[in-house]
Amino acid sequence: MEDLTIEIANGKQITKEEALKFFDFELEDIFLASAKIRRKYKGDKVKVCSIINAKSGQCSEDCKFCAQSAFNKTDVKVYSLVDTEKINEVSIKALENVGCFGIVSSGNSLNDVEIEKLCEMFKKHKKVSHLGVSIGRISDENFLKLKKAGIKKMHHNLETSENFYPNICSTHSYQERVDTIKRAKKFGFEICSGGLFGMGESFKDRVDLAFTLKELGSDSVPMNFLMPIKGTALEHLPTMTPVEILKTIAVFRIILQTPDIMICGGREVNLRDLQSWIFQAGANGLMTGGYLTISGRDITSDKQMIKDLDLDLDLE
Ligand code: SF4
Repeated sequence: MEDLTIEIANGKQITKEEALKFFDFELEDIFLASAKIRRKYKGDKVKVCSIINAKSGQCSEDCKFCAQSAFNKTDVKVYSLVDTEKINEVSIKALENVGCFGIVSSGNSLNDVEIEKLCEMFKKHKKVSHLGVSIGRISDENFLKLKKAGIKKMHHNLETSENFYPNICSTHSYQERVDTIKRAKKFGFEICSGGLFGMGESFKDRVDLAFTLKELGSDSVPMNFLMPIKGTALEHLPTMTPVEILKTIAVFRIILQTPDIMICGGREVNLRDLQSWIFQAGANGLMTGGYLTISGRDITSDKQMIKDLDLDLDLE
C-alpha cells in the first residue's frame, strides 16, 4: 500500500481497481498521496466561489434529491428569473471576496428570452470573466450568445455514475448531460462538472464518476454531499460520515490529479468539525455563503479557516 501511495504521489495514473482499494485504507495513509498531489498541482492556493439561485423551484425534472423538482413536495421558494440588475449587483459584491460567482437556475433549460436578458447583463458586467452559469441544457445558438457575452465557465453536474443515474432521475438521460458538457467544451468553455454523493451509490459508482469526469476533461469538479431534504424522495437516507466524505474527496484527487476540486453542498452539515480536513484530502476550493436552497457558512469564517491553515485565498 505504501509503495502505491508513493507512486501515485509521484504521478502514477491509477486504475479503477486500485482506486477502489483506497476506500479500505486509513485516512492518514490516503492523505499521504492526496495532500501531496494537491500541493504539487495547486500549491497553497484555495479557490472560493459562491452562487445565486437565479430561478427557483417548479422544475419539470424528477431528480430525487432536489428540493426544486416539482415531483418532490418541499416548501422551497418558487420564483422566475431574478431581475438581471439584482444579479449584477449581488455578483459584484460577492466577487470582492470570491474568485468565481455562479448564476444557477432551476429547470431543464432557460428560454431564449431569459438567455437574451442574461447576455445583455453579461456584456456590461465589470468582472464577466469571473462569472459562470449553470442553466441546464443549452442550444448551440445560445452557447454562442453566452460566449460572445463574455462567459467563460459552464457548470453542469453529472451527479453520479452512468450505472446509478437511473435511480435518481428518469426525465432526462445521463447521455444528455454528457452531451451538454461535450458541446460546451467544443464551444471553448471551461467545464465545471461534478456530483452529489450519499444517494445510495456504491464506491464503484463514485470511482466510475471520477473516471468519466477525467475523460471529459472537467476543469473544476464540485463535490456535494447529500443533505436529505424533507419532502424529497431521498429524505430518509442517512448522511455520510465525515471519514467517508474525506475518503471520497481523496479518491477523487488521486484519480483526477490536476482539476480544481471544490467542496460544496453538505460541507458544514456533514463534515462538522472536520471541514478543514478537506485540504488534506486533496480539495483546493470550496463554495461559501450557502447553497441553492440551504444556507451555508459565511465568508468571514471560511477566510479565517483558510488563513489558520496557512493557505492563500486565490481570487484570480
Ligand atoms: S437538479 Fe436541476 S434539473 Fe434536477 S430537479 Fe433540480 S433543478 Fe431540476
